[in-house]
Amino acid sequence: MINADIILEEFKKNSNSFEYSKCIKKITFQEKLSNENNFIFSVPNIFILKWINHRYTSILGGLSNDLKEIEIDFLLFKDIKDKLNTKSKEKTPIIIKEENPINKKISTLLPSNIFDNFIVGASNQFAYVTSLSSAQKPGKEFNPLVIYGGVGLGKTHLLHAIGNHCSSLDVICVTAETFTNDFTHALINKNLSSFKKKYRNCDVLLIDDIQFISGKFGIQEEFFHTFNELHSKSIQIVLTSDKKPNNIKGLEDRLKSRFEMGITANIKQPELETKINIIKKKCEIDNINISDEITIYIATNLNSSIREIEGVLMKLNAYANMINQNITLEFTKNILKEHISQSNNKISTEDIINVVSKKLNIKPSEIKSKNKSKKIAEARRITIFLIREFTKQSTISIASFFFMKDHSSVSHAIRKIKSDIKNIEDYHKKIEDLKSIILLEIK
Ligand code: ADP
Ligand code: MG
Repeated sequence: MINADIILEEFKKNSNSFEYSKCIKKITFQEKLSNENNFIFSVPNIFILKWINHRYTSILGGLSNDLKEIEIDFLLFKDIKDKLNTKSKEKTPIIIKEENPINKKISTLLPSNIFDNFIVGASNQFAYVTSLSSAQKPGKEFNPLVIYGGVGLGKTHLLHAIGNHCSSLDVICVTAETFTNDFTHALINKNLSSFKKKYRNCDVLLIDDIQFISGKFGIQEEFFHTFNELHSKSIQIVLTSDKKPNNIKGLEDRLKSRFEMGITANIKQPELETKINIIKKKCEIDNINISDEITIYIATNLNSSIREIEGVLMKLNAYANMINQNITLEFTKNILKEHISQSNNKISTEDIINVVSKKLNIKPSEIKSKNKSKKIAEARRITIFLIREFTKQSTISIASFFFMKDHSSVSHAIRKIKSDIKNIEDYHKKIEDLKSIILLEIK
């Protein structure tokens, strides 16, 4: 049975000592909602709240499987206190989680994703202009509009900006996953008519990450009919995708051709000037004080997504506030170094097996086998220890990789290596050497 201590322990395991002492340690369990999988925790200040929300997804990635099912909410302690005070007066629950049946419309639009907040540069100008035009004259000019491009480049932002701009209309903005789930529930509950009523009677249909329906032919069939009906009534349809529709594998040709009927707009990686403008805008919105020198440093050293830039700014600000220090260039360099090494840390299980195999002269297939000979069993334990260190995979997932009966064998292997490091001369060096080889090989 999962309880709050188990959750906190998992968070501790998946963070470094700095993060633990500055953030994780300050998280307090508040309550478990009657919905048995929903745990509420409080944090003392906004910086920790921002940090935890930012890190949460990556920490969650490392959580063991049974914890992935639960819902965790973090709230500011102050807000919980306020809510508790009102609660005792008004007898209202702390959090009201609404059910979301198909026919009940709840706005899913992110209020901060508006055109005014969107920084335009060469990389996204066409997508911006076509989105704005679709919002100003829905169904008139570009229908459908398909915005495509890599992760964290602003597709969802533009989609929601269109929705927010058209707020006086009946806008549906959902991910393709929600669309699929709604359809499945409707099928199960024999409620297809409300599904159709919802999706075929709107003024604007916005679907995020349409690539999700690739390979799922039932939902593609349904979407095809939804699309045709809306399109024939000149209702604006906007889709986002991680690839150009023609390049989405597992998408029916008739959908590809529908998607290419209107206009497709690509968002590329931002150029330096756009990155600088985005950083300035984010700092202005979040009240973060950094010099032009630091802005340029971040913009030139981070190449990928805008989401990543946001993440670094948040981390920078949160850490600076926690340790009560101004954001200097030196401080930024350290945070960025740590960030880059974390995001480059794409060491896989196979990489680790290959290094251990070469170095200890044992075949990869033997490491993965059930052979219990002393030398092979030791190599397997070392591999498990290193996998846990480098990939932060849960013990359950490591156990299933090695076809072990349960995760306690993994924990046992890790404990044994830790004790060997302590008790056997030069063992520490042996493990550290392997770690350096892994890091070097991956670079
Ligand atoms: P995608 O859907 O392409 O993966 P998002 O739209 O979620 O990316 O963008 C990631 C983050 O970056 C969001 O917080 C978004 O507001 C921000 N962002 C992306 N592009 C811009 C931009 N041009 N100007 C300002 N913020 C942006
Ligand atoms: Mg998105």
